[in-house]
Formats: sequence, C-alpha cells, structure tokens
Amino acid sequence: MLKEIKIELTNKCARNCKHCSSNATSNIDNIKELDFNSVYKIINEAKTIGVETIVFTGGEPLMYDRLSELIELTSNLGMQSTIYTFAYRTAETLNKYRNLINLGLSKIVYSLADSLTDEKDISIFNNEEFFDKVFEGNDAILGFHYTVSKDSYSKLKNVLTSTISTFKNKKYFDKISLLRFVPHGKGTTYMDLSKEQLLDIKNFYLNFANKNRIRLGSPWNILGIKNSPFVSGDGDFDNSINW
Ligand code: SF4
Repeated sequence: MLKEIKIELTNKCARNCKHCSSNATSNIDNIKELDFNSVYKIINEAKTIGVETIVFTGGEPLMYDRLSELIELTSNLGMQSTIYTFAYRTAETLNKYRNLINLGLSKIVYSLADSLTDEKDISIFNNEEFFDKVFEGNDAILGFHYTVSKDSYSKLKNVLTSTISTFKNKKYFDKISLLRFVPHGKGTTYMDLSKEQLLDIKNFYLNFANKNRIRLGSPWNILGIKNSPFVSGDGDFDNSINW
C-alpha cells in the first residue's frame, strides 16, 4: 500500500546549492509551481487510498504561498505532514515553522548542505538555538539530511559527529538521512563520489557509535550495508523494505 506521497510544490528557492536535484531557482522567469486546486485534490484523493503522510518539497516549500492551507488540510484529514526545507534561520522562518506546526505539521527535515555557491547566508541563528525555539512546547519532530558529493565529502564526518552530538538528547530530534549524490538537476558527474570515498564512508558508518541515528538511502545499496528502514534519494523512508 502507498503510505507516503511527496509533492514538489515549487522550484522556487533563495539558495543555490551545487548539488540541487530540483534545478531550483530564484529567477522569476523560470519559476514553476503546482496549481493549488490540483494539489488540494491530490491530497484528498491520497486520503481515500490510505496514504498516511504527505511530504511537501521544492525548491523551498516555504516559498509556496498557500503551503499553510495544505498543511491544515492534511492535518484535518487525519494524515501526517512533512516538509523538506533549507530556509535561512531567521526570526521570520522561525515564525513560519511554528505557525505550520500549530496547523498540524508533523515533521521538518532540514538540510545540512554545505556545498553552496553564490550565496550570502543570512541566517542569524545556529541550528541548535534555532530548532530549540522551533520545537519548544510542541510535539513535532526534526530530521536532517546531508547530501554527500565530492564537494561535501570532506566535511561529512565532522557534520555527522557534531550534529548528532548536539541533538541526540533533544526530544524532538529523529535522525540524519545520508543522501548519496546523484547527478541530476544542477549536479554534474564531476561531483560523484570515487570508489575510495565510498569505501571510506562505508567504514566510517560501520564504526560509527551512533549509527542508529543515521538513515542510509537506496543509492547506498552499492555499499552492501544492511540499514533499515529504506530511504529514497530525498530522505523519505518506508519500513516495508529490508536489504
Ligand atoms: S538543494 Fe534545496 S535548498 Fe538547495 S537550491 Fe535546491 S531546493 Fe534550494
């Protein structure tokens, strides 16, 4: 049975990640968005076939003007909702996340991407102080995802170790989904990992003390590691598949 569907609402995004598989843009001439009424209909139909979770992605889903109505609809229909997001950590974003949680948003999956180009990060909070405020007094949960490409590989161990050390005792923290870079959208084959890097990642994972806080996606099958639940390329998971 289909338990989860993912809806890419918009390709609009203020960031410019090198690895972006959605070809996201802030160029007004190239923005494509789903029609609100069509998404509304899809969510209602999803309910009738037993879907449990709706995942809203982009681009940056916060930049879709009517996201709050879709979150509210999903909640009113008794389904869970998740957003994949990487908005700058500002007071405005904090208010937006908290408002969405008040409307029923169940989970935020935030990127730990660091292979960015041409951007000035205007975040004013670090991850810890920001998410402590986002999840204060509510039951929503936080996941992270990190895309490992040739550019971001060198920081992988540090990012995983420091993030898990910071968040492992927070009641709102779930796991980090490790996403293997696939050359799609803005990403080029030049950014793909070498065999040696893949082996190094495998050894690091197998020896990592907190591997229960890491999810590996299907593109990592090549490593031959058993890791359940299954995670797709964008970090969602399905408990029904073991490998
Ligand atoms: S990877 Fe995410 S945050 Fe980065 S440009 Fe693409 S949509 Fe925006």
